[in-house]
Amino acid sequence: MAQARLSIDLGELRANWRALNALTSTETAAVVKADAYGLGIDPAAKALAEEGARTFFVALTEEGAELRRVLGDGPTINVFSGHMEGDTALLRDAQLTPMLNSIDQMLRHVEALPGHAFGVQLDTGMNRLGMEPDEWAALRHVALSQNPTLLMSHLACADEPDHTMNAQQLQVFQEMTEGTGVPRSLAATGGILLGPDYHFDMTRPGIGLYGGLPFAEARTVVTLDIPVIQIREVAAGETVGYGNNWTAQAPARIATIAAGYADGLIRAMGPDGFVWAGDSRCKIVGRVSMDMIGVDISGVEGEPDSVQMLGDRQSVDTLADAAGTIGYEILTSLGARYDRVHTGG
Ligand SMILES: *Cc1c(COP(=O)(O)O)cnc(C)c1O
Repeated sequence: MAQARLSIDLGELRANWRALNALTSTETAAVVKADAYGLGIDPAAKALAEEGARTFFVALTEEGAELRRVLGDGPTINVFSGHMEGDTALLRDAQLTPMLNSIDQMLRHVEALPGHAFGVQLDTGMNRLGMEPDEWAALRHVALSQNPTLLMSHLACADEPDHTMNAQQLQVFQEMTEGTGVPRSLAATGGILLGPDYHFDMTRPGIGLYGGLPFAEARTVVTLDIPVIQIREVAAGETVGYGNNWTAQAPARIATIAAGYADGLIRAMGPDGFVWAGDSRCKIVGRVSMDMIGVDISGVEGEPDSVQMLGDRQSVDTLADAAGTIGYEILTSLGARYDRVHTGG
Protein backbone atom coordinates (compact mmCIF):
# COMPACT_ATOMS: atom_id res chain seq x y z
CA MET A 1 0.00 0.00 0.00
CA ALA A 2 1.44 3.35 -1.05
CA GLN A 3 -1.03 5.58 0.77
CA ALA A 4 0.69 7.88 3.25
CA ARG A 5 -0.61 7.96 6.80
CA LEU A 6 -1.57 11.19 8.54
CA SER A 7 -2.00 10.56 12.26
CA ILE A 8 -3.71 13.16 14.39
CA ASP A 9 -3.19 12.69 18.10
CA LEU A 10 -6.35 13.96 19.80
CA GLY A 11 -4.79 13.41 23.22
CA GLU A 12 -2.04 15.90 22.36
CA LEU A 13 -4.62 18.27 20.87
CA ARG A 14 -6.42 18.19 24.20
CA ALA A 15 -3.14 18.66 26.06
CA ASN A 16 -2.41 21.78 24.01
CA TRP A 17 -5.84 23.22 24.83
CA ARG A 18 -5.26 22.48 28.54
CA ALA A 19 -1.82 24.10 28.44
CA LEU A 20 -3.11 27.26 26.74
CA ASN A 21 -6.05 27.35 29.12
CA ALA A 22 -3.65 27.12 32.07
CA LEU A 23 -1.86 30.27 30.85
CA THR A 24 -4.93 32.42 31.48
CA SER A 25 -7.58 32.84 34.12
CA THR A 26 -10.34 33.46 31.58
CA GLU A 27 -12.34 31.30 29.21
CA THR A 28 -10.39 29.50 26.49
CA ALA A 29 -12.35 28.99 23.28
CA ALA A 30 -11.17 27.00 20.26
CA VAL A 31 -10.79 28.11 16.65
CA VAL A 32 -11.71 25.24 14.32
CA LYS A 33 -12.06 27.05 10.99
CA ALA A 34 -10.89 25.42 7.75
CA ASP A 35 -11.72 21.91 8.98
CA ALA A 36 -9.78 22.47 12.21
CA TYR A 37 -6.74 23.72 10.29
CA GLY A 38 -7.00 20.76 7.96
CA LEU A 39 -7.00 18.09 10.66
CA GLY A 40 -10.72 17.18 10.67
CA ILE A 41 -13.34 19.32 12.39
CA ASP A 42 -15.47 16.40 13.55
CA PRO A 43 -12.94 14.54 15.74
CA ALA A 44 -11.03 17.71 16.69
CA ALA A 45 -14.06 19.68 17.88
CA LYS A 46 -15.49 16.69 19.75
CA ALA A 47 -12.19 16.17 21.57
CA LEU A 48 -11.93 19.86 22.46
CA ALA A 49 -15.53 19.94 23.70
CA GLU A 50 -14.84 16.91 25.86
CA GLU A 51 -11.77 18.65 27.23
CA GLY A 52 -13.96 21.59 28.29
CA ALA A 53 -14.11 24.08 25.42
CA ARG A 54 -17.56 25.68 25.41
CA THR A 55 -17.09 28.29 22.69
CA PHE A 56 -15.91 27.63 19.14
CA PHE A 57 -15.03 29.94 16.28
CA VAL A 58 -15.29 29.27 12.55
CA ALA A 59 -14.73 31.51 9.53
CA LEU A 60 -17.90 30.74 7.57
CA THR A 61 -21.54 30.13 8.40
CA GLU A 62 -21.40 26.87 6.42
CA GLU A 63 -18.57 25.67 8.67
CA GLY A 64 -20.64 26.65 11.69
CA ALA A 65 -23.62 24.62 10.48
CA GLU A 66 -21.42 21.55 10.05
CA LEU A 67 -19.93 22.10 13.49
CA ARG A 68 -23.40 22.30 15.03
CA ARG A 69 -24.19 18.88 13.57
CA VAL A 70 -20.98 17.58 15.13
CA LEU A 71 -21.40 19.12 18.59
CA GLY A 72 -25.17 19.21 19.00
CA ASP A 73 -26.89 21.83 21.12
CA GLY A 74 -24.98 23.55 23.88
CA PRO A 75 -21.64 24.98 22.76
CA THR A 76 -21.56 28.53 21.41
CA ILE A 77 -20.45 28.74 17.77
CA ASN A 78 -19.19 32.15 16.64
CA VAL A 79 -18.70 33.07 12.97
CA PHE A 80 -15.89 35.51 12.09
CA SER A 81 -17.33 36.56 8.73
CA GLY A 82 -20.48 37.79 10.43
CA HIS A 83 -23.93 37.88 8.83
CA MET A 84 -23.49 37.76 5.06
CA GLU A 85 -26.29 37.92 2.54
CA GLY A 86 -27.78 34.42 2.31
CA ASP A 87 -26.65 33.41 5.79
CA THR A 88 -29.87 34.07 7.68
CA ALA A 89 -31.49 30.63 7.54
CA LEU A 90 -28.30 28.79 8.49
CA LEU A 91 -27.52 31.18 11.34
CA ARG A 92 -31.04 30.68 12.68
CA ASP A 93 -31.37 26.93 12.16
CA ALA A 94 -27.90 26.05 13.47
CA GLN A 95 -28.04 28.66 16.25
CA LEU A 96 -24.80 30.34 15.20
CA THR A 97 -23.57 33.66 16.53
CA PRO A 98 -22.26 36.00 13.82
CA MET A 99 -19.49 38.45 14.70
CA LEU A 100 -20.91 41.50 12.89
CA ASN A 101 -18.28 43.43 10.96
CA SER A 102 -20.04 46.53 9.60
CA ILE A 103 -23.09 48.72 9.89
CA ASP A 104 -24.56 46.88 6.90
CA GLN A 105 -24.18 43.53 8.66
CA MET A 106 -25.69 44.97 11.83
CA LEU A 107 -28.75 46.25 9.97
CA ARG A 108 -29.13 42.97 8.09
CA HIS A 109 -28.91 41.01 11.32
CA VAL A 110 -31.38 42.95 13.46
CA GLU A 111 -33.85 43.08 10.60
CA ALA A 112 -33.63 39.43 9.58
CA LEU A 113 -33.16 37.83 12.99
CA PRO A 114 -34.36 40.19 15.73
CA GLY A 115 -33.35 38.89 19.14
CA HIS A 116 -30.83 36.40 17.69
CA ALA A 117 -27.42 36.41 19.41
CA PHE A 118 -24.56 38.31 17.81
CA GLY A 119 -21.12 39.68 18.61
CA VAL A 120 -19.28 42.62 17.15
CA GLN A 121 -15.86 42.53 15.54
CA LEU A 122 -13.88 45.75 15.88
CA ASP A 123 -10.95 46.83 13.76
CA THR A 124 -8.13 48.05 15.98
CA GLY A 125 -5.60 48.51 13.19
CA MET A 126 -5.25 45.31 11.21
CA ASN A 127 -7.63 46.58 8.54
CA ARG A 128 -9.01 43.18 7.72
CA LEU A 129 -12.39 42.70 9.39
CA GLY A 130 -14.45 44.67 11.84
CA MET A 131 -15.91 48.11 12.48
CA GLU A 132 -13.52 51.06 12.47
CA PRO A 133 -13.45 53.32 15.54
CA ASP A 134 -15.62 56.02 13.94
CA GLU A 135 -18.12 53.47 12.62
CA TRP A 136 -18.32 51.91 16.06
CA ALA A 137 -18.72 55.29 17.75
CA ALA A 138 -21.75 55.97 15.56
CA LEU A 139 -23.30 52.55 16.10
CA ARG A 140 -22.16 51.63 19.56
CA HIS A 141 -25.26 52.89 21.33
CA VAL A 142 -27.67 50.94 19.15
CA ALA A 143 -25.48 47.84 19.13
CA LEU A 144 -25.13 47.75 22.91
CA SER A 145 -28.88 48.13 23.35
CA GLN A 146 -29.26 44.82 21.48
CA ASN A 147 -27.07 42.96 24.01
CA PRO A 148 -24.13 41.62 22.00
CA THR A 149 -22.58 38.48 23.46
CA LEU A 150 -18.98 39.44 22.60
CA LEU A 151 -16.81 42.33 21.47
CA MET A 152 -13.71 41.08 19.70
CA SER A 153 -10.72 42.24 17.71
CA HIS A 154 -7.65 40.58 16.21
CA LEU A 155 -3.94 41.36 16.57
CA ALA A 156 -1.85 41.77 13.42
CA CYS A 157 1.61 41.13 14.93
CA ALA A 158 1.04 38.96 18.01
CA ASP A 159 3.69 36.45 16.88
CA GLU A 160 6.27 39.22 17.37
CA PRO A 161 6.07 40.02 21.09
CA ASP A 162 8.21 43.17 20.80
CA HIS A 163 6.23 44.68 17.97
CA THR A 164 4.81 48.09 18.92
CA MET A 165 1.59 47.23 17.07
CA ASN A 166 0.54 44.96 19.95
CA ALA A 167 0.37 47.67 22.61
CA GLN A 168 -1.15 50.06 20.09
CA GLN A 169 -3.99 47.67 19.23
CA LEU A 170 -4.49 46.85 22.90
CA GLN A 171 -4.98 50.53 23.67
CA VAL A 172 -7.42 51.05 20.82
CA PHE A 173 -9.37 47.94 21.88
CA GLN A 174 -9.56 49.21 25.43
CA GLU A 175 -10.77 52.62 24.30
CA MET A 176 -13.41 51.07 22.05
CA THR A 177 -14.77 48.61 24.62
CA GLU A 178 -14.16 50.10 28.08
CA GLY A 179 -17.23 50.28 30.25
CA THR A 180 -19.54 48.39 27.89
CA GLY A 181 -20.04 45.51 30.31
CA VAL A 182 -19.92 43.12 27.32
CA PRO A 183 -17.48 40.16 27.37
CA ARG A 184 -14.36 40.91 25.34
CA SER A 185 -11.82 38.88 23.35
CA LEU A 186 -8.58 40.05 21.74
CA ALA A 187 -6.07 37.19 21.93
CA ALA A 188 -5.48 34.28 19.56
CA THR A 189 -2.50 31.97 20.24
CA GLY A 190 0.06 34.79 19.97
CA GLY A 191 -2.00 37.12 22.15
CA ILE A 192 -2.24 34.54 24.93
CA LEU A 193 1.57 34.50 25.09
CA LEU A 194 1.72 38.32 25.32
CA GLY A 195 0.39 38.10 28.88
CA PRO A 196 -2.66 38.86 31.00
CA ASP A 197 -3.26 42.41 29.64
CA TYR A 198 -4.30 40.75 26.40
CA HIS A 199 -6.55 38.03 27.81
CA PHE A 200 -9.79 39.90 28.64
CA ASP A 201 -12.78 37.53 29.06
CA MET A 202 -12.02 34.94 26.38
CA THR A 203 -9.05 33.81 24.32
CA ARG A 204 -9.33 32.22 20.87
CA PRO A 205 -6.37 29.96 20.10
CA GLY A 206 -6.13 28.08 16.83
CA ILE A 207 -2.63 27.16 15.68
CA GLY A 208 -1.30 26.49 19.18
CA LEU A 209 -3.91 23.75 19.60
CA TYR A 210 -2.65 22.04 16.47
CA GLY A 211 1.01 22.13 17.48
CA GLY A 212 2.29 25.25 15.68
CA LEU A 213 4.24 28.39 16.51
CA PRO A 214 4.12 30.82 18.17
CA PHE A 215 3.22 28.29 20.91
CA ALA A 216 6.75 26.89 21.18
CA GLU A 217 5.78 24.49 23.99
CA ALA A 218 3.05 22.91 21.87
CA ARG A 219 2.95 19.14 21.76
CA THR A 220 3.10 17.38 18.43
CA VAL A 221 -0.38 16.67 17.10
CA VAL A 222 0.35 15.68 13.49
CA THR A 223 2.53 12.82 12.26
CA LEU A 224 2.91 12.14 8.55
CA ASP A 225 4.53 8.87 7.49
CA ILE A 226 5.13 8.27 3.79
CA PRO A 227 5.82 4.81 2.32
CA VAL A 228 8.93 4.21 0.26
CA ILE A 229 7.90 2.85 -3.16
CA GLN A 230 11.31 2.11 -4.58
CA ILE A 231 15.00 2.41 -3.74
CA ARG A 232 17.78 2.76 -6.33
CA GLU A 233 21.50 3.35 -6.51
CA VAL A 234 22.69 6.27 -8.58
CA ALA A 235 26.26 6.90 -9.70
CA ALA A 236 28.08 10.20 -9.39
CA GLY A 237 26.90 12.47 -12.18
CA GLU A 238 23.41 10.95 -12.48
CA THR A 239 20.40 13.21 -12.00
CA VAL A 240 17.10 12.74 -10.14
CA GLY A 241 13.63 13.98 -11.01
CA TYR A 242 12.02 16.49 -13.37
CA GLY A 243 14.31 19.00 -14.97
CA ASN A 244 17.44 17.10 -13.88
CA ASN A 245 17.41 19.46 -10.93
CA TRP A 246 19.68 17.44 -8.67
CA THR A 247 22.92 15.75 -9.63
CA ALA A 248 24.62 13.15 -7.44
CA GLN A 249 28.11 14.34 -6.47
CA ALA A 250 28.99 10.82 -5.30
CA PRO A 251 27.30 7.42 -5.52
CA ALA A 252 24.01 7.65 -3.59
CA ARG A 253 20.92 5.66 -2.63
CA ILE A 254 17.70 7.34 -3.57
CA ALA A 255 14.29 6.42 -2.18
CA THR A 256 11.13 7.46 -4.04
CA ILE A 257 8.38 8.19 -1.51
CA ALA A 258 4.63 8.17 -2.17
CA ALA A 259 3.42 11.72 -1.66
CA GLY A 260 3.87 14.99 -3.50
CA TYR A 261 2.46 18.41 -4.11
CA ALA A 262 -1.03 16.97 -4.73
CA ASP A 263 -0.89 15.96 -1.05
CA GLY A 264 -0.05 19.48 0.06
CA LEU A 265 3.72 18.96 0.14
CA ILE A 266 4.48 22.10 -1.73
CA ARG A 267 7.14 22.14 -4.44
CA ALA A 268 8.98 25.05 -2.86
CA MET A 269 10.25 22.83 -0.02
CA GLY A 270 12.28 20.71 -2.44
CA PRO A 271 15.71 22.34 -2.32
CA ASP A 272 15.75 22.83 1.49
CA GLY A 273 13.52 20.03 2.74
CA PHE A 274 14.29 16.91 4.73
CA VAL A 275 12.48 13.79 5.90
CA TRP A 276 13.46 11.35 8.62
CA ALA A 277 14.19 7.65 8.31
CA GLY A 278 14.44 6.52 11.90
CA ASP A 279 17.22 8.65 13.42
CA SER A 280 18.61 9.75 10.06
CA ARG A 281 17.80 13.03 8.45
CA CYS A 282 17.50 12.55 4.69
CA LYS A 283 17.62 15.34 2.17
CA ILE A 284 14.91 15.80 -0.44
CA VAL A 285 16.56 15.58 -3.86
CA GLY A 286 15.17 16.80 -7.14
CA ARG A 287 11.82 18.46 -7.65
CA VAL A 288 8.75 17.51 -5.66
CA SER A 289 6.44 15.74 -8.14
CA MET A 290 2.66 15.51 -7.95
CA ASP A 291 2.65 12.10 -6.22
CA MET A 292 6.30 11.42 -5.41
CA ILE A 293 9.43 12.87 -3.86
CA GLY A 294 13.01 11.61 -4.07
CA VAL A 295 15.08 11.47 -0.88
CA ASP A 296 18.74 10.66 -0.37
CA ILE A 297 18.93 7.71 2.02
CA SER A 298 22.66 7.08 1.54
CA GLY A 299 23.20 7.48 5.29
CA VAL A 300 20.48 5.01 6.27
CA GLU A 301 21.20 1.41 7.11
CA GLY A 302 18.94 -1.14 5.45
CA GLU A 303 15.84 -0.37 3.45
CA PRO A 304 13.30 1.83 5.23
CA ASP A 305 9.65 0.98 4.56
CA SER A 306 8.60 4.57 5.16
CA VAL A 307 9.95 7.98 6.13
CA GLN A 308 8.53 10.66 8.39
CA MET A 309 7.73 14.08 6.94
CA LEU A 310 6.01 15.51 10.04
CA GLY A 311 6.17 14.40 13.65
CA ASP A 312 8.36 14.64 16.73
CA ARG A 313 11.48 14.90 14.59
CA GLN A 314 10.20 17.59 12.25
CA SER A 315 7.54 20.11 13.20
CA VAL A 316 5.12 21.84 10.86
CA ASP A 317 7.19 24.99 11.36
CA THR A 318 10.48 23.35 10.37
CA LEU A 319 8.86 22.12 7.19
CA ALA A 320 7.29 25.55 6.68
CA ASP A 321 10.72 27.19 6.92
CA ALA A 322 12.04 24.90 4.22
CA ALA A 323 9.16 25.89 1.98
CA GLY A 324 9.30 29.61 2.77
CA THR A 325 5.88 29.62 4.40
CA ILE A 326 4.20 29.26 7.81
CA GLY A 327 2.93 26.28 9.78
CA TYR A 328 -0.67 27.37 9.20
CA GLU A 329 -0.25 26.89 5.45
CA ILE A 330 1.48 23.54 5.83
CA LEU A 331 -1.40 22.22 7.97
CA THR A 332 -4.26 23.58 5.90
CA SER A 333 -2.61 22.35 2.67
CA LEU A 334 -2.46 18.70 3.77
CA GLY A 335 -4.48 16.95 1.12
CA ALA A 336 -7.40 14.56 1.08
CA ARG A 337 -5.44 11.56 -0.18
CA TYR A 338 -3.94 10.49 3.14
CA ASP A 339 -5.10 7.67 5.31
CA ARG A 340 -6.21 9.91 8.19
CA VAL A 341 -6.08 8.26 11.55
CA HIS A 342 -7.26 9.95 14.73
CA THR A 343 -5.71 8.47 17.84
CA GLY A 344 -5.76 9.10 21.55
CA GLY A 345 -9.26 10.60 21.73
C1 LIG B 1 -7.67 32.35 12.79
C2 LIG B 1 -8.08 33.32 13.83
C3 LIG B 1 -7.81 33.06 15.19
C4 LIG B 1 -6.90 31.94 15.64
O1 LIG B 1 -5.57 32.39 15.42
P1 LIG B 1 -4.29 31.48 15.74
O2 LIG B 1 -3.15 32.37 15.38
O3 LIG B 1 -4.40 30.29 14.85
O4 LIG B 1 -4.34 31.14 17.17
C5 LIG B 1 -8.36 33.91 16.14
N1 LIG B 1 -9.10 34.99 15.77
C6 LIG B 1 -9.34 35.29 14.48
C7 LIG B 1 -10.14 36.50 14.14
C8 LIG B 1 -8.83 34.49 13.47
O5 LIG B 1 -9.07 34.80 12.18
